[in-house]
Amino acid sequence: MEKLIIGSHVSFQKEKQLLGSVEEALSYGANAFMIYTGAPQNTSRSPILDENIKKAEILMKENGIDKNNIVVHAPYIINLANGNQFAVDFLKQEVDRCEKLGLKNIILHPGSSVKLEKEEAIQNIINGLNEIFKRDQDVKICLETMAGKGTEIGRTFEEIKAIIDGVEKKERIGICIDTCHLNDAGYLISDFDKVLAEFDKVIGIDRISCVHINDSKNEQGAHKDRHENFGFGTLGFDVLLSVIYHPKLTNVPKILETPYVTDDDDSKKRLYPPYKFEIEMIREKKFDENLIEKIRSHYR
Ligand code: FE
Ligand code: FE
Ligand code: ZN
Repeated sequence: MEKLIIGSHVSFQKEKQLLGSVEEALSYGANAFMIYTGAPQNTSRSPILDENIKKAEILMKENGIDKNNIVVHAPYIINLANGNQFAVDFLKQEVDRCEKLGLKNIILHPGSSVKLEKEEAIQNIINGLNEIFKRDQDVKICLETMAGKGTEIGRTFEEIKAIIDGVEKKERIGICIDTCHLNDAGYLISDFDKVLAEFDKVIGIDRISCVHINDSKNEQGAHKDRHENFGFGTLGFDVLLSVIYHPKLTNVPKILETPYVTDDDDSKKRLYPPYKFEIEMIREKKFDENLIEKIRSHYR
């Protein structure tokens, strides 16, 4: 049978922590997932609870989820590029939390240069990473390829390569490619073989530790970063499927970060997770143009 490592972003709540995340992932039919160790948009974090790690591990084992296919995402607001110590200290603690959870990959947006020159911003990222990597720990930081919104660093493979070049412990750097971001950055995902070949030439395919699977609301090169549900954006079903089933990425977890579906009929503006249905559609390899309505009527 064809091996497919697929999941989505799931929640990580104060009490149940990883156990709740595993349960949510299983409810979507996933065998991989991504968590933030707290809220994605802030840096407040509560301590990791031991008892839930054990329970989560048992549940994973029973259901064939490999821990190597679980990734952590650092909060959006962490910016190593501006050279402040807060981001470095936060990430050191994030590495510790990962170690405790037994997880090996933290996905990080490289940062935004804001008012600095790009070279200076990249040097700040390098310095931050070198400080974080001072202690020997079995956790990688995976730089994510970005859309190039505003002053984001990581829009091109070359920018990411420049960061890797400055890092001393290169074995602790991984990469997360994001299909929406790559498209918005200007890469042509409909010719994914060519994109991968270029990635391989500049960075090396072996560094890819995670693939974020998102359709895009915008055209190639728009620099917007607005995710769309699977098959409903400018990339489309077949193109995204060609990424998911690419033979060179078989062993890499594919993580959906597609938007929750709104209920237009609902005055409370409820939001429904699309992942169970998107994963089903991906496994079946057949586009369902009524998917969004199907999700609404399932959860309504
Ligand atoms: Fe991200
Ligand atoms: Fe992403
Ligand atoms: Zn994004």
